[in-house]
Amino acid sequence: MGEKGNDIYDLIIVGGGPGGLSAGIYAMRAALKTVLVEMGSPGGQMMLSDEVENYPGFEHISGAELSMKFSQHAQSYGLQMLAQEAVAVEPGMEFHTLRLAGGESLRAYSIILAMGGSPRKLNIPGESEYHGRGVSYCAVCDGFFFKGRTVVVVGGGDTAAEEALYLAKLARKVYLVHRRDALRASMILQQRLKDDCNIEIVWNAVATEILADKNGVCAVRLKDTQNGAPRELAAEGIFIFIGFNPNNQLVPAGIKMNADGYVVADEKCETNTPGIFVVGDLKEKYARQIVIAAAEGSTAALAAAHYVENKKAGRAETCELPPELLKEA
Ligand code: NAP
Repeated sequence: MGEKGNDIYDLIIVGGGPGGLSAGIYAMRAALKTVLVEMGSPGGQMMLSDEVENYPGFEHISGAELSMKFSQHAQSYGLQMLAQEAVAVEPGMEFHTLRLAGGESLRAYSIILAMGGSPRKLNIPGESEYHGRGVSYCAVCDGFFFKGRTVVVVGGGDTAAEEALYLAKLARKVYLVHRRDALRASMILQQRLKDDCNIEIVWNAVATEILADKNGVCAVRLKDTQNGAPRELAAEGIFIFIGFNPNNQLVPAGIKMNADGYVVADEKCETNTPGIFVVGDLKEKYARQIVIAAAEGSTAALAAAHYVENKKAGRAETCELPPELLKEA
């Protein structure tokens, strides 16, 4: 397996969402030799947001534009961005290694894990079969195809509410199907849902099956969560927003995660493995917001700079790996 250059980086950032890009900005300003590895387009989940209204300094900005601004800002400091797939993170005593799909590897004194999360699936019949033919996890990407049509949105959180409001501008009718009798979404979004006459909330219901004809999705089968009664909604699209799962596949064994698979870190965003940090939606936290991911990116980069400085100066106060990793290092 080849090494990508002989040098050891100060910092490798894995993932180019708001957490990773913010870390890139702070790392470059701290003069860390840094590379950010991201196989998709920079921005992560932020790219999928139609309208961002709560990032300070921007009353309204599209997720795509904010992503571009983050990316341009990081690149203005000369951040090296590598469009490759990362396949393994290997902690070590002296430096940590990131293996790439092409067979090469990168080495660095510190790593920031910023891999984010992916939309959760309902796992009901028809969901995977009709993905792309009426089943979607992104209103901004696919909403246009449902102009003047009827769609079902599943979920009761901020994402479902925001996406239902977006779809209501395009679709003839939006059913918002929620499994309880109260939404989890913020009050401001709940009020907007109520005020939108294109949106009808279907309370206490879960989707059990997605039906299709030769044109794609044609109906969604529901079950009442209180009395079990079945119901069918005729709709050409179903948009699923029921939260997401952390992208923790690359998190090495020995790094502490909670029961839901989110990585646990301290106030510096450092994991239980010295020199390995975590930011954004992959990290255990109270709320998942762009501003929080960005703040964590800056925290982790500043902490990484301190860690690298100590490491290079030979001060080893933070260099002990947890026992689970010692045998692998
Ligand atoms: P979320 O807050 O976890 O909400 C997921 C929703 O899906 C909940 O209402 C949940 O129901 C429902 N659900 C989960 N599993 C289900 C299943 N199997 N079948 C049916 N329904 C199911 O996820 P999110 O809305 O994606 O938001 C994630 C985080 O991002 C949150 O912290 C949110 O505040 C934040 N966010 C913020 C903004 C913003 O501020 N502009 C925008 C988007 C997201 P229950 O309520 O019954 O659990």
